[in-house]
Amino acid sequence: MMDAESIRQKSTLALIPSENYSSMAVRLALASSFTNKYAEGYPYFWENGERSMQKNGRYYRGQANTNALERLAIERALKLFTPNPQAYHANVQPLSGSPANLAVLHAFLKPGDTFLGLSLDYGGHLTHGHHVNMTGASYRAVSYRLNVDYELDYDEIRELARLHSPKLIICGATAYPLQIDFQRLGEIAKEAGALLVADIAHICGLCVTGHHPHPFPHADIVTTTTHKMLRGPRAGLILCKKELGPAIDQAVFPGLQGGPHMNTVAAMAIAFREAMSGEYKQYAGQIVRNAKTLAEHLQAEGFRLMGGRTENHLLLLDIVHSDNGLAAKDGHWLSFRWERAGIIANKNAVPGDKKPWYPSGIRLGTPAVTTLGMKEAEMRQIGDWIVRATQGADNDAELEQIRKEIATMMERFAPGQFV
Ligand code: PLP
Repeated sequence: MMDAESIRQKSTLALIPSENYSSMAVRLALASSFTNKYAEGYPYFWENGERSMQKNGRYYRGQANTNALERLAIERALKLFTPNPQAYHANVQPLSGSPANLAVLHAFLKPGDTFLGLSLDYGGHLTHGHHVNMTGASYRAVSYRLNVDYELDYDEIRELARLHSPKLIICGATAYPLQIDFQRLGEIAKEAGALLVADIAHICGLCVTGHHPHPFPHADIVTTTTHKMLRGPRAGLILCKKELGPAIDQAVFPGLQGGPHMNTVAAMAIAFREAMSGEYKQYAGQIVRNAKTLAEHLQAEGFRLMGGRTENHLLLLDIVHSDNGLAAKDGHWLSFRWERAGIIANKNAVPGDKKPWYPSGIRLGTPAVTTLGMKEAEMRQIGDWIVRATQGADNDAELEQIRKEIATMMERFAPGQFV
């Protein structure tokens, strides 16, 4: 089964914006003996608002190496993500992005308290207050949306903040192709007396390399995953202004979780260092150039792009309302047809969709293919395959032909170290 998955990854195009290939160093850390160790607690103590790094805050013994490791991961997280490591705090223990977001709400809200988040139908994440998620079931989540141009409606957010007096505003998205104005959102939150949380899971690599505005110092808290654009292990990370650190730590452990996954923390420390390199900065720039090239190519071929463009790593196609014979039944069906051709993408809702299982959109992203070294020329080639796989979606022979062509190209771009 493991070999079969490696072969699948080596021979198909990973265009899901939240996926990537981690380095062999990251993968070896995940398999290291840190996986055997329990380390409940933290490798420091909070005393009068200061982290005392000399004191051991673990519940179990045998922590010499876990303490050194977690301190290193925190130090690197602060260096990578904050403008001033002395003024911020990092918690590297969240098991993934969803627990990180839940921990933030648990830290500052009581059940029933109000917060604002972007609606799932408009590109927000489940944990930003969707009713089927704990965040929507336990708190009073008020959703904001996008305007008719598929842009964040900052005026509406300000209105909602005035009307509902939320304790917290979450910004950030899962399927938003445009830049986010953190400064403006910071002003809105301040005016409302709310904390601003920026969930940068999708764009973290762009923020730390200057290819997207940075959420700090406008946000009070930043959450991210480390396995998407950051190319690390599957995990979550919370960064916050230092004075919020004790509440965040308390909410993660013991509030929400037990022992941290120390093998994952080891892999995070490696991914943070990798992301500090000049090579990573170039990589992030190429992600954006690749997304722009793919978006323009598909648009020229008649695909309808939500927002009309991309300013980050992803594009959202409305494949039901596209032109030039590219309109398809729905994103669910088309994503299965594309898979037959070796194009791996995910269906996505677009505003106005009534059936979430059969949405009108497909979401595409460039982080993974850029890791493999693909550039603008390959994006145009991928665009051509997408057009053919859409026009020929009913034609098994055409899809099989595309699958073979993609597998041949992937032989040039899938170095063994990744999969
Ligand atoms: N936040 C955003 C914006 C996301 O897109 C995602 C996942 O796609 C998450 C949080 C949750 O991450 P995880 O799947 O690791 O729980």
